[in-house]
Amino acid sequence: MSLPDVLADEPRAIDTHAHQPTEEFLFTAGGEMMQDAAERFGKEMVPNDYEQMREEYERAGIAKAVLLGWDAETNTGNPPVPNDYVAEVRDEHDDFFVGFGSVDPLKDDCVEEAIRCVEDLDLSGFKFQQIAQGFDPSDPEHEDLWNTIEDLGVPCVFHGGNSTLGACAPGGRGLKIKYGNPMLLDDVAADHPDLQMLIAHPAFPWEKEQLAICQQKGNVYMDLSGWMPKYIDDQVLHYAKTVLKDKVMFGTDYPMLDPQKWMEQFANLEYSEEVQRKLLWENAEEFLGL
Ligand SMILES: [Zn+2]
Repeated sequence: MSLPDVLADEPRAIDTHAHQPTEEFLFTAGGEMMQDAAERFGKEMVPNDYEQMREEYERAGIAKAVLLGWDAETNTGNPPVPNDYVAEVRDEHDDFFVGFGSVDPLKDDCVEEAIRCVEDLDLSGFKFQQIAQGFDPSDPEHEDLWNTIEDLGVPCVFHGGNSTLGACAPGGRGLKIKYGNPMLLDDVAADHPDLQMLIAHPAFPWEKEQLAICQQKGNVYMDLSGWMPKYIDDQVLHYAKTVLKDKVMFGTDYPMLDPQKWMEQFANLEYSEEVQRKLLWENAEEFLGL
């Protein structure tokens, strides 16, 4: 097994979707719903430090990663991964991490916190997990937040599709997967043409909707995180090398997925070198403004 050819000489890939491998994310913010997810991924949750994470990434040919914040406190009751912590880790590894903050759209101060993330903490974008955060992004009550982020001029990563959080628990621990339907993001994209949006993960079971939105909305992109390549829907894999080759990006969902195994399976897809370069780093460089 080996890495894609385009990574043979030096690590160049950019992972658009990484979480903290530390207890801040896995246990504190994650709680029981994260234990459920880890079981679905067949991963034991052993915290890692950032040095180990970087070594794993280097072996997988990855040069940079977007480190995501997490605040789903209102809906889950679990404390957030604080934005200050994300900024601190980014500062300690500023050659490696791009920091994305998280604001809880159900909190009264979410707009102020979004401004603080960009203006004071110098974070580069935002991550939303609509299922964990329990909100409908198309609901007009969130207009202020989208207007604010659009004005701040930074991109957003949104969750796409079902979630393994709470999987197999009674009631899925109260989480509602309808909020993961990418169609709810189509409204946001239409009303905020300057908001750059990345729908994370092949959005099972709504991959077709996701592909349609990415095709029709110039400001909407997607990534392949959260799924090992051999399990990704065939139509997504086909679009990634054809009509959407400028809009699909690589992501892992670390620490849930092993970056090296992901890359080895990606190499087996036998995409052209042009497509590999676009998906693995060129599209992300453009989206992130690197
Ligand atoms: Zn994730």
